[in-house]
Amino acid sequence: MQVPAPFEYERATSVDHAIQLMAQLGSEARIVAGGHSLLPMMKLRLANPEYVIDINDLKDELEYIRITDTEVRIGALTRHSQLLDSDELAAIFPIFRDAEKVIADPVVRNRGTLGGSLCQADPSEDLSAVCDALQASCVIRNGEGDRVITMHDFHRGPYETAVADGEMLTEVRFPIVPNSSSAYHKVERRAGDWAVASVGAAVAMSGSNGSSVIADGRVGLCAVGPNTTHIEPISAALSGQPPSEELYAQVGAIAAESCNPDTDGRGTEAYKRHLAKELTIRSLRKAVARATGQEA
Ligand SMILES: Cc1cc2nc3c(=O)[nH]c(=O)nc-3n(C[C@H](O)[C@H](O)[C@H](O)COP(=O)(O)OP(=O)(O)OC[C@H]3O[C@@H](n4cnc5c(N)ncnc54)[C@H](O)[C@@H]3O)c2cc1C
Repeated sequence: MQVPAPFEYERATSVDHAIQLMAQLGSEARIVAGGHSLLPMMKLRLANPEYVIDINDLKDELEYIRITDTEVRIGALTRHSQLLDSDELAAIFPIFRDAEKVIADPVVRNRGTLGGSLCQADPSEDLSAVCDALQASCVIRNGEGDRVITMHDFHRGPYETAVADGEMLTEVRFPIVPNSSSAYHKVERRAGDWAVASVGAAVAMSGSNGSSVIADGRVGLCAVGPNTTHIEPISAALSGQPPSEELYAQVGAIAAESCNPDTDGRGTEAYKRHLAKELTIRSLRKAVARATGQEA
């Protein structure tokens, strides 16, 4: 039986209270949101916090999807299932529904959160690729107030983020870009499993349908090694180009070269590189089709 080391449990009554507790308890305190990553790590003794601060009562402050004309703001405690179910979110960013359909299973999705996924920073976490493709920024709060940083600055490497002791992620913000769309493709060994590899793409088009070009494009890879979001050569290759199968293949090749997968029980390095290329092609093709009204 896997049993965590002894720990103290506190239930935060507000975001300010959670931050105050973290400041008071120091580096031995950890937030628990959905608990689907933290609790297994505690049972395996890979994480041994002395204090666990539960934020699940903070729905009013942290659980929401707010949409304006220019921006979507999602609270850190928003569950996977809410991201999956929101028709308004899917209409603007279809990549969320694509990804959430294939993240884990309903039990995990009912509890696991956007904030927990990003803060866990597991290189196989699908939402990091989604948020990077959508040029998200993260709101981090501490005793002094809020700071807002890009996804690129948020992720420091596998299992490492810019959230320091005494801080928490409260919100993720997404700009709404005109004439844009997005898509996500994942290959998993069986339904509900972590990815063998997955890829998210977002594009913004300019010009009319007949002669439209990709004004801006981003691709985020997942489960194929560290630092596979914000791949500059991909965005550079897409910028200003008319969409074509040749372009997608060229960018797919960059994706395969830019990642660093390991051979493991999910597949060989060569197979994962092949998936990085193929899923990049498919995600870009679908994102462009959606952005140009060729696919609902
Ligand atoms: C069987 C299973 C299958 C899964 N399959 C997938 C999958 O296919 N794809 C995928 O992407 N994920 C998958 N997951 C992970 C799932 O998405 C989790 O929900 C996610 O990893 C963590 O979210 P959580 O809310 O449970 O975080 P928690 O476990 O509560 O926390 C994770 C970490 O983030 C910290 N944290 C949480 N919230 C905050 C915050 N607001 N501010 C600062 N720190 C915070 C915690 O202290 C902890 O260190 C799977 C999980 C399981 C158990």
